[in-house]
Amino acid sequence: MKQPHVLILYTGGTLGMSPKPGAPLQPAEAHKDLLTWVPELKEYATIDVEILANIDSSLMTPEIWLMLARRIEQAQEEKTHSGVVVIHGTDTLAFTSSALSFLLPGLNMPVVITGSQRPLAVTRTDARNNVLGAVETALEGPAEVLVFFRERAYRGNRITKSAISDFMAFASPNFPALGKAGINWEWNDDLFWPRTRRPTLWPEIPQHLPMAPLVIPWVPGLDFSALAPALERHWALLVEAFGSGNIPLDDGVSETLGMFMQRGGLVYVRSQVSMGRTDLNMYAPGQRLAQLGAVGVCDMTREAAVTKLMVLKASNMDADRISYYMTQSLAGELTESDML
Ligand code: ASP
Repeated sequence: MKQPHVLILYTGGTLGMSPKPGAPLQPAEAHKDLLTWVPELKEYATIDVEILANIDSSLMTPEIWLMLARRIEQAQEEKTHSGVVVIHGTDTLAFTSSALSFLLPGLNMPVVITGSQRPLAVTRTDARNNVLGAVETALEGPAEVLVFFRERAYRGNRITKSAISDFMAFASPNFPALGKAGINWEWNDDLFWPRTRRPTLWPEIPQHLPMAPLVIPWVPGLDFSALAPALERHWALLVEAFGSGNIPLDDGVSETLGMFMQRGGLVYVRSQVSMGRTDLNMYAPGQRLAQLGAVGVCDMTREAAVTKLMVLKASNMDADRISYYMTQSLAGELTESDML
């Protein structure tokens, strides 16, 4: 029987780093021998490895997201591979998996992002299992952007990094795992993002993405008016509010937000609590925010909200449409109120 082909796109991260005594971990060359370190990969598929970058993922850029999206789209169009695995540092992995889910809404094969907490080249590494699980997911999983980490396959736009040193580095606070690699794989087929819900008309992968929105996690005592100069340079603000979407909206805050909105600035609200969803009408402070024109983004992660805004803005939609889509699920990234 002919072996399937899997494309591995390498971008860097701890997985390929080699520890040196007395020096911090930084990109090295271990990834070049991926098939030597993990020879079992050849039993699953013919593996093609391409190196798109070799960076600590804190240096990830929207340009690299676009490069990944274009390469994946090409593999899909040319039908060269059954699935794609992206190897990525864990620090910003959730931003990349979220961005790819919005840049590639018409996927017809799995795209699986993984990384590791310990380098491939050290003992007790989690890298081997994560790469093997990601390749299995790329061969058996649903046609959407997933993240495989520590025996679980998650929807890529639902996860967030939740542990610095635990092998289970990610949480999916508002959506269950799509698959679990135990003795056998168990897939939650009912949760796969259905083809019928995918946008039929969607612009091409954009040439550029706009700058990220300004993200402000609110804290008691914040001097919001001091941020007015920063707001002048931004097109959108994502407020990370308390609880269901509350901030102390005194006259000074209202005035600063009002001025920002008057010159076309868009204001979105998510909760800084990871589990649950915004409901701006639940308490008076949230309701005042909504009356000003701010829009709650339901149960989206920070990573999903930021990257979705950037992709929507890049498609030249007007403000009303951007705000409408920020409350609608485009790639399974949020739970709409009628799904509850
Ligand atoms: N700093 C590393 C990175 O994100 C952490 C990791 O890969 O786990 O590239």
